[in-house]
Amino acid sequence: NQPILCVGELLIDFFSTDRNTNLADSEAFMKRAGGAPANVCAAIAKLGGEAHFCGKVGNDAFGDYLQNSLEQANVNTTLLVKDSTLPTTLAFVSLQEDGQRDFIFNRGADANLSIEDVPLHTLDSMKIAHFGSATALLPGRLKDTYKSFIEAAKVKQSYISFDPNYRSDLWKGDEVEFIKLARDLIARCDFLKVSDEELLLLTGEPDITKAVFELHALGAECIAITLGKKGTFLSFKGETATIPSIPIHAVDTTGAGDAFVGATLYQLGKIAAPRSLSFGDWQNIVRFSNKVAAKVCEKVGAIEALPTLEEIQSI
Ligand code: ATP
Repeated sequence: NQPILCVGELLIDFFSTDRNTNLADSEAFMKRAGGAPANVCAAIAKLGGEAHFCGKVGNDAFGDYLQNSLEQANVNTTLLVKDSTLPTTLAFVSLQEDGQRDFIFNRGADANLSIEDVPLHTLDSMKIAHFGSATALLPGRLKDTYKSFIEAAKVKQSYISFDPNYRSDLWKGDEVEFIKLARDLIARCDFLKVSDEELLLLTGEPDITKAVFELHALGAECIAITLGKKGTFLSFKGETATIPSIPIHAVDTTGAGDAFVGATLYQLGKIAAPRSLSFGDWQNIVRFSNKVAAKVCEKVGAIEALPTLEEIQSI
């Protein structure tokens, strides 16, 4: 197993437990560790891979809670930094009567990660590095840190994975800026995971084959487009295929995309040279990742719902 590094956002999601209310009227909240790269790390570790998380929390009780949550999920936290100037990032969410989310985002320490926070030699052994979160590209230090990390990883010929994780409530009115920043990172990655909605947003092209070709032209060698219950569209070196998902009863699809990425990286971590894979190898990888993502949809929660390798092998 190669060690896999996931860089970026780590925060606490406070979910209102009151039904059909806005945040102003919500009285009780449920606390959960969140952040796409942290979910990806947990998925890798749950399957038995070696996952390292690199990011920042505040030097406070919530930062301790997040560190404990990652460690309980068997994620290595040596590269988790505690910021002495900013509090841990917190998000508050409630589901309103009309089905819309009410959302407050108190951005703190995770946005303040700098490449200087991490001794560069610790990156030497990380042959696979994943970047991606809903917030990393927002104004602040983290988006430049991503670029520095990717440059450093490229020098070491690490395999780079990227998931833009677009969130419309965070980027309302700034979509053009998001597209520019995301395309810039797509140009630097080897593996790209996007949803079908993100593919349309990033290219403006409704035809999936033409749109994916446009993203390959930017740089990404292997692209997986997640299609919800329809499965995943895979595109690699001029060949494409839709790999169907498995039939399940979906209860909560939160974290399915992150589980898909984690499962993919877990499998890449078992291969000495991920750049030498064939299209057939990639189809098998996506078949496995679809199963992991589907299992996550059967239970509530992102990290709590992650399956073990034995569960996937028994399908
Ligand atoms: P996010 O987690 O941010 O919503 P996403 O948009 O990539 O990410 P989806 O496309 O909904 O997530 O799902 C990711 C993967 O999860 C799919 O490619 C598929 O393999 C699996 N999946 C999602 N929904 C279902 C479902 N109802 N039944 C079976 N598999 C599913």
